[in-house]
Order: sequence, then structure tokens, then C-alpha cells
Amino acid sequence: MDLFEYQARDLFAKHDVPVLAGEVIDTPEAAREVTERLGGRAVVKAQVKVGGRGKAGGVKLASDPADAVAKAEAILGMDIKGHTVHKVMLAQTADIVDEYYVSFLLDRTNRTFLAMASVEGGVDIEEVAATKPEALAKVAVDAVDGVTEAKAREIVEAAKFPAEIADQVVAALQKLWDVFVKEDALLVEVNPLVKTGDGRIVALDGKVSLDANAEFRQPDHAALEDKAAADPLEAAAKAKNLNYVKLDGQVGIIGNGAGLVMSTLDVVAYAGEKHSGVKPANFLDIGGGASAEVMANGLEIILGDPDVRSVFVNVFGGITSCDAVANGIVQALELLKSKGEDVNKPLVVRLDGNNAELGRKILTDAAHPLVQQVDTMDGAADKAAELAAAK
Ligand code: GDP
Ligand code: MN
Repeated sequence: MDLFEYQARDLFAKHDVPVLAGEVIDTPEAAREVTERLGGRAVVKAQVKVGGRGKAGGVKLASDPADAVAKAEAILGMDIKGHTVHKVMLAQTADIVDEYYVSFLLDRTNRTFLAMASVEGGVDIEEVAATKPEALAKVAVDAVDGVTEAKAREIVEAAKFPAEIADQVVAALQKLWDVFVKEDALLVEVNPLVKTGDGRIVALDGKVSLDANAEFRQPDHAALEDKAAADPLEAAAKAKNLNYVKLDGQVGIIGNGAGLVMSTLDVVAYAGEKHSGVKPANFLDIGGGASAEVMANGLEIILGDPDVRSVFVNVFGGITSCDAVANGIVQALELLKSKGEDVNKPLVVRLDGNNAELGRKILTDAAHPLVQQVDTMDGAADKAAELAAAK
């Protein structure tokens, strides 16, 4: 989960990384009071989960409270690379002497963590990395040892930070590593880390990405989720522990197991080429235990997607046998009907593997008007695409 800058700033403050005071608001008028609290001047910063806000006009200095209202008004509602600005952060202004770059991230290729640092920070760090790679120091960080003082010094020396600020950068790096470890982050990036006129080192912008796999031990992180931006069906699926992903086509896909689901997407996209170019609308992996309840939850979510015109249920029975899945489908349709849900989209079911014959017989006997069976994956994909195109 990527965080907004103000959330990253809060986590930095929690772990004693030096930051400036800031408050987030969502109406221009609120800027007046906040700016007064911040000492009469403020930098107004768009809160969107995308880089390059400064260049897009999403970071502006306000010289007084009235100016802050005007700048907030200009930035709120702005579109930055497809992201609408709903909130701005007002922060104390910094007297910037120099801008640096530091980050910690997971280096999957080398199976380690990585520190990156440069004294050429600021808005163009991507260009520095591309055109002057020697100006971006990269230092591996061992997962067990972490960023000790010695490791932080190694990073500071590799990036050639000036001697007079070395100790402060060393301290900031160790605290940023605390953020990385204690908050279970996958990325902690500061650009710029600045030197101010009075010689202090301050993190002026922060980008943090948290590891969703660590949610179970980070109870505070749920509150950081951007509920307004979440797809309601994805949220409903998550609440029921289902893996659901929204796509932009017309065929709903339910399968068991990630591998099967991925290949189902491929065959549906391929079959769709012959049927007015229909594509997968979404997919949902019901995993190993496809009970009636799991199937009902899954179908409810897939059918709740207004883009879905037909549904392809593709199951290869293993530990869960096909008869259990077939009973699940029959009961799921009854369950949805009894809940008053309007089930009116055709379902194409392909059952194979453990107890496939019994499963097929259960569906045949149930003779549900919306359900039809096709025994091969390619054939079923073709039927589902055809039905989606016909609607
Ligand atoms: P980004 O463009 O999305 O990375 O947004 P940043 O928060 O990094 O801001 C972009 C640039 O705005 C920084 O590199 C600074 O040069 C400048 N900036 C941000 N805050 C201040 C401030 O308080 N004072 C001054 N003078 N410049 C600032
Ligand atoms: Mn930045």
C-alpha cells in the first residue's frame, strides 16, 4: 500500500526523523487558520499518490494566510497525471540550501535490501539515475544487521555527503531505517532531504510503501487505507478473504488457484478476439476450499460488477472435488435468489479433475436455466465470450 506524503510524514515524525510541521486539509478556507498556526507562511502541497507534483504545479509557496487559501483553491481539484487532488498538506516553509536524495527498498533481484543516496536530489532524481548513474550511490543492507551507524556512514561516504552534515545524515538514515523495519515498509524514500539555512537536515518529502503481507502485525495501518479510492467490490472481496481483481472487459471469471485463473484470463482474451473483442471483466480466485458459501460470496461479487455480461466458472478439482464445487454453485444461486439478488447473467461452467463426472451430473440434474456446461477450457472460454458479445 502506497501512502500519501502526509501519512509518510507522520510515520517519519513517529520515528524521530526530522520533519517540518504540517497539516492536511480538504477545503481552501481551512488553509487560513492552518497557515496562521504554521507561522503565517506555508508551502501548499497536493496530496496525490504520484511523483512529480512540483513540476505539475502541485507544490506552491504561500506568503500569507490569504495567499494560502488562494493556492489551496488552485491546487484542490487539480488533475495530476490522472490523479485528482482531494487534499492538500500545508507545511512549514523550509529555507533550502541543498537538496539530497535517500531511500531504502527491497532489492528482489539481489535478495537483499538496498540503500540509495545522492547529493543531487530534488525533482530530477530519475534523470540523475539515468544520465549520471555514478551520482547515485547504491549500498546493500543486510536484513539481519540493518543500518548500523557504520552502515549509515558507508552510505554517506558512498554518496559523498559534505562533511559538515555527515553526522546528521547518518542519524537520519538510521531513523529512516527504523521506519522501514518497524512499519514493515517495502520502500522509504526521501526526495528531497534538505539542508536548511541554519544547517539542519530535514526530510521535506516522503514516499512510503507498506507491505500488505504484514497487515496482521500492524493494526495501525488499516487506518492509512484510502477508503474513498478503493473499488467497492474489491473492498467487499477483501472483507470476505477473496482475491478479486477488477479489469476492463465483459467476462467475469471465477477459478480455483492462481495458475488456473491466470491461464483462464489468457484463453478468454484469446477467445474474445473472435467475439467482438470481449475481454475478462475481472477475476476471482476462490482458492482451495470452494464451499457453497465461498462460491456464493464469489458469485455475488462477480455478478455485482455492472460490466459483467457472462461468467466463466473454471474449476479443476483437486483437494476440493468437483461435486462439492457443483453443489456450491447450485446452492450459491439459490442463496443469491433467496437474498433477493437479481441473478440474470449466463454462467458457463467447466469442471475437470477430481470427481468431475459427478460434479457435471449435479449441474445437469439441477438444470438451472442460466447455467450451461462445457467440458473443455477452450470451449468454455469461447462460449462465455460468445454470450458476453451477444448481450
Ligand atoms: P514532488 O515534486 O512530488 O517530488 O514534490 P516535493 O515535495 O519533493 O516538492 C518539489 C520541490 O518543491 C522540492 O524539491 C523543493 O525544491 C520545493 N519545495 C518543497 N517544499 C518547499 C519549501 O518549504 N520551501 C521551498 N523553498 N521549496 C520547497
Ligand atoms: Mn519529491
